[in-house]
Amino acid sequence: VAGHRAAIELRRLRPEAAITVMAGEESLPYDRPTLTKELLLANKTAAEIVLKDADRYAELGISYLRGTWAEGIDTREGVVEAGLQRIPYDTLLLATGSRARRLPIGLDAGGGLYIRTLADALRLRAQLLKGRRVVIIGAGFIGLEVAAAARKAGCSVTVVEAKSTVLSRGMPEPVSQFMQGLHVTNGVEFRFGTLIGAIDWTSDGSALVELAHETLRADVVVFGLGIEPNVELARQAGLDVRDGIVVDAQCRTSAAEIFAAGEVTSHPSGPHGTHRRIESWRVASDQPLVAAANMADGEASYTDAPWLWSDQYDVNLQCIGDVLNGTVYLQRGDPATHKWTLIALDDAGLPLGGVAINNGRDISMLRRAIVNGTPIPDVLASECVRLPSSHANSDILSGPLRVSS
Ligand SMILES: Cc1cc2nc3c(=O)[nH]c(=O)nc-3n(C[C@H](O)[C@H](O)[C@H](O)COP(=O)(O)OP(=O)(O)OC[C@H]3O[C@@H](n4cnc5c(N)ncnc54)[C@H](O)[C@@H]3O)c2cc1C
Repeated sequence: VAGHRAAIELRRLRPEAAITVMAGEESLPYDRPTLTKELLLANKTAAEIVLKDADRYAELGISYLRGTWAEGIDTREGVVEAGLQRIPYDTLLLATGSRARRLPIGLDAGGGLYIRTLADALRLRAQLLKGRRVVIIGAGFIGLEVAAAARKAGCSVTVVEAKSTVLSRGMPEPVSQFMQGLHVTNGVEFRFGTLIGAIDWTSDGSALVELAHETLRADVVVFGLGIEPNVELARQAGLDVRDGIVVDAQCRTSAAEIFAAGEVTSHPSGPHGTHRRIESWRVASDQPLVAAANMADGEASYTDAPWLWSDQYDVNLQCIGDVLNGTVYLQRGDPATHKWTLIALDDAGLPLGGVAINNGRDISMLRRAIVNGTPIPDVLASECVRLPSSHANSDILSGPLRVSS
């Protein structure tokens, strides 16, 4: 989405520019969040998730090189290398995004599924048949969205998670508890605090998933182990790379003429401008517009607060800002009604972030307050109760994945 949005915006800003998009995948760019939602639930087809205007590249004079993997950047010559092709540039945008984090080689051999691409999701969709036993490794957003879709398809679902709760990497405890309860109510089973020992695939195509104290039988095994940024190209080009490709608020990397945008960037975020890599669609949708403006010699900055959403069963979850480091937490509405909001405040009582369950309007109000550094509006504050203690969680999957042998 980041590369696509930048290309379309650049065309608008620079009608005369020669624009080339190099795309590792064969398909036209598509809306990745639908892969575990509408596409997996068969509510949308592959054709319906192609991004707006991606079918107009020829008309817009954008050269789209499908299935073309950029292998190197010669920064002195200003050339991108792909096999025998050498594509010159005056200005270059890296929007290489992320890939699914994988188990160590050997453990997933034989048929487990990772869900990052359209091809991955179509393969999974074909396997979610009524009565099948699905085991999902990892209770993050992707794992839980797959669990919800699999239950809807009539599969039995067991989710295995190394930590003691769902969404423990990014959500405060009350939200984790709520989401866990939602899945239990919908018939999902959990195994917490356990690592996978081995996965053996039998001759009938089913799997034996070995945990510390039991073995689960599965027809389908799905891995939702988080993501890793595709930073190799940038690193090889000698750019400043830490957790992601380091950019300033104008999306400039450490090399002149090279910009980066989307999920792969480590960019200034929050009131103190701390560099962070944000794993969400919003940054991939909005930051490339800033990059394109600056690539076209304009002046724009990306200063938005992190924002993400997830859809599971009847629940739309939206999260804005930093929800883990509040010193005070406020709750608006009753979780039992499936319509409520959790707000994190700092020492000074200013909002850091919030999570809304079926309450998107609260997120819009919070977003304005966070970006402007102002207190939450009275209309929110007047209906909030203060929760007794801090609910911040620890980080689990940011380090290497631990798997018992
Ligand atoms: C199943 C799923 C569900 C999601 N649901 C949500 C959600 O509900 N809410 C939300 O906020 N976010 C969600 N996300 C995250 C969201 O999709 C990503 O944040 C977004 O796609 C990032 O966009 P991007 O363009 O930065 O990177 P990507 O989408 O990763 O795109 C990068 C592209 O660059 C290509 N590429 C990489 N390196 C090269 C190279 N060297 N040469 C050529 N091509 C290359 C890759 O093949 C890829 O196609 C979801 C992600 C997935 C996978």
